[in-house]
Amino acid sequence: MKHEARVLLDHGSGGRASQRLIRELFLTHLGNSILDSLDDAAVLEVEGRLAMSTDTFTVDPLFFPGGDIGSLAVHGTSNDLSMLGAEPLYLSCGFVLEEGLPLATLEAVVASMGQALNGCAATIVTGDTKVVPKGAVDKLFINTTGIGRLVGPNPPRGHRAEPGDAILISGTVGDHGLAVLSNREGMRFDSPVISDSAMLHPLVDSLLRAVPDIHVLRDPTRGGLATTLNEIAQQSAQEFVIQEEAIPVQGAVSESCSFLGLDPLYLANEGKFLCILPQAQAQTALDVLQAHPLGRAARRIGEVRTGQSGRVILQTAFGGERFLRMLEGEQLPRIC
Ligand code: MG
Repeated sequence: MKHEARVLLDHGSGGRASQRLIRELFLTHLGNSILDSLDDAAVLEVEGRLAMSTDTFTVDPLFFPGGDIGSLAVHGTSNDLSMLGAEPLYLSCGFVLEEGLPLATLEAVVASMGQALNGCAATIVTGDTKVVPKGAVDKLFINTTGIGRLVGPNPPRGHRAEPGDAILISGTVGDHGLAVLSNREGMRFDSPVISDSAMLHPLVDSLLRAVPDIHVLRDPTRGGLATTLNEIAQQSAQEFVIQEEAIPVQGAVSESCSFLGLDPLYLANEGKFLCILPQAQAQTALDVLQAHPLGRAARRIGEVRTGQSGRVILQTAFGGERFLRMLEGEQLPRIC
């Protein structure tokens, strides 16, 4: 499409301009045999038990180090399916566009969605575009919904953590939240922090092949590691003990966080997951994680024990203990 052009209200009308936008922009980057049919609904051939998840992306800025709203919209929804051990198969995407948005910006986002799907089985099979008058939305929001096929008979679920289980994290925490925030505020650090936004399915797939009996998988997105640990402790009615020193945090992230008064344990991640599993399998799982580029910094950070239901205890570097609580309020708005 012509790149000096901008999104007009007409592009969301369903008429000729919408048709051009679909054919020249969306199908160019996302086309596949199902989407290309341009029927009112996609026809899907699926066998077995399915998982389904939806998420809406409003990140500001649209482009940040390590990703953009398009790759994030693909990774975020696909990863939620992966957290149940499901293989992401089909995605829908709904766009809300602000009148006047440069078409080049939209095209960069859509191209990034196409690239984010490269190398995995998932495709975008249906979509929608709405254009609202200038000021009614900030540039561009995306909703994605995904369907995946559950692989094992007993998928990882939040209620399955058991006393004695090991708690692993697949890598460093806080990278995405800090990358977006620092970019939005125009902060410059000696070593720039890059978002960890990534498609987790390939790593989860190798993990589940090596260790089929994983009790819980969950990606600590909004609210960060601390909030996600609390959610799982509550769902499984167990007590978690976490060793603060064992939690991997990049040097640049922890330095910037102390400077800004932020806690990396509450910052969003978009390419990491918690894995809770029997102690006897923990080393095998760590070996699989650390052998993969996305899991190199994986660590065992704690364990599940019989105690007070829903409580998360953090053993500090100085030998003390404190409760690690859920995020109260919104630490950082529009981070994903
Ligand atoms: Mg999630």
